Amino acid sequence: MENEIDLSAISHLLITHSHDDHFYPMDLFMRHPEYGKKWGAEQLHIYGNSAVICLLKEMAERFSVEDIWEYIVPHEIKPFDVLEIENYRITVLPARHMQTEEALLFLIEKEDTAFLYGNDTGIPGEEFWKGLKGKKLNGASMDCTMGKEKSKYHGYMGFGDILEVKERMEKEGAADQETAWIVTHFSHNGGWTYERMTEDLKDTVFQAAFDGMCIEIGK
Ligand SMILES: [Zn+2]
Repeated sequence: MENEIDLSAISHLLITHSHDDHFYPMDLFMRHPEYGKKWGAEQLHIYGNSAVICLLKEMAERFSVEDIWEYIVPHEIKPFDVLEIENYRITVLPARHMQTEEALLFLIEKEDTAFLYGNDTGIPGEEFWKGLKGKKLNGASMDCTMGKEKSKYHGYMGFGDILEVKERMEKEGAADQETAWIVTHFSHNGGWTYERMTEDLKDTVFQAAFDGMCIEIGK
């Protein structure tokens, strides 16, 4: 509401993994006509790994919203799938975020513009780098859960890890001077308050994400 975004008009939703700070199926069942009548988009397509789709179906069954599938459409996806959604090409990449399911990242392309959507990116593994080969990013957002230094665990990054990822991307030709860099997914565990982070990043190429953030990338 604050940013005047009509969430009901969204027709495609990409989910990275099933942790509840990223995926909360009950909210999506509000698309059922019992709860709301006027929707900007008739159906909402939801793309996620097997754990996400399983959880979605399980919750719908538990709360007996059987005909919800007329209003939301699940699509199970896996790393290296390529989705063509309206004018976008989405390449699904693997994230090293968790052991219990295959968390995903999304490389989103439209014409000549490419954006890496990394939430709970984790420290990228070799499979990720393989998937990025030949791509040139106009923008990338990456998780900075663990604060200013390097993370001790591969499931999350700290700013120290992001610097290394940026360096490798530039070396491999996946990023250059024009690439926009966004850090996101902050946590108190990192001990880097938003105030200090924005102050520290002031004279760098990195921007700290905030609710309602809009960026322009590409031509
Ligand atoms: Zn997570």
